Amino acid sequence: MMFSSISIRCPICTQLAEFEFANYIELRHKSDLLYFKKSKHFDVVSREGWSKYKLYYHAIHYRGISPHLENIKNLPKHCAPKKWQQGVIYPNITLHKSLGTIRCNICKSISKYELTWPEEAFFQIEYKGKNLWAYDRNTAIQLLNYIKSNDRSKRVESSSENYVTQDYFLRKIPEQFQTAKARNEIVKKLRKILGL
Ligand SMILES: [Zn+2]
Repeated sequence: MMFSSISIRCPICTQLAEFEFANYIELRHKSDLLYFKKSKHFDVVSREGWSKYKLYYHAIHYRGISPHLENIKNLPKHCAPKKWQQGVIYPNITLHKSLGTIRCNICKSISKYELTWPEEAFFQIEYKGKNLWAYDRNTAIQLLNYIKSNDRSKRVESSSENYVTQDYFLRKIPEQFQTAKARNEIVKKLRKILGL
């Protein structure tokens, strides 16, 4: 299970907005770096690698803001549309900062955005000073069903396969949210944020 877009709070109107991870490609050639620095359709970011003496450059393409990669003429040959990757988030990986596009259907804003995760999760509740969060509406409902169930089974039916698998997302819920004492308050708060 992985997510290429997630639900966050709109910084303008505070309602539900969607964050979609940007496309990116590592730039290994100086000529490519120059091309992307000059192009109005891309940003270039540099990151330290495992050795802090070497910088890695990435071109960033924002979905919904720049034209589709396929429609941008004269891309360098090392950087054909098929070679780009989209950022994603996996439940077993901790992510703090990431670039992408934020879209809000309420105030109709769309802009480049640097995500701070999971602090900015829309579907999050607080219980005894700790935050419990979900990626989007579907995982928030999954979380609600799990917390309110009596057997607290971490095994869920996989939709694509015919066997029962363990869900990474549910497996990562800290124990403090899973006590019988916590159940009523958490279920109530999750229902409220889901509008159920
Ligand atoms: Zn908004």
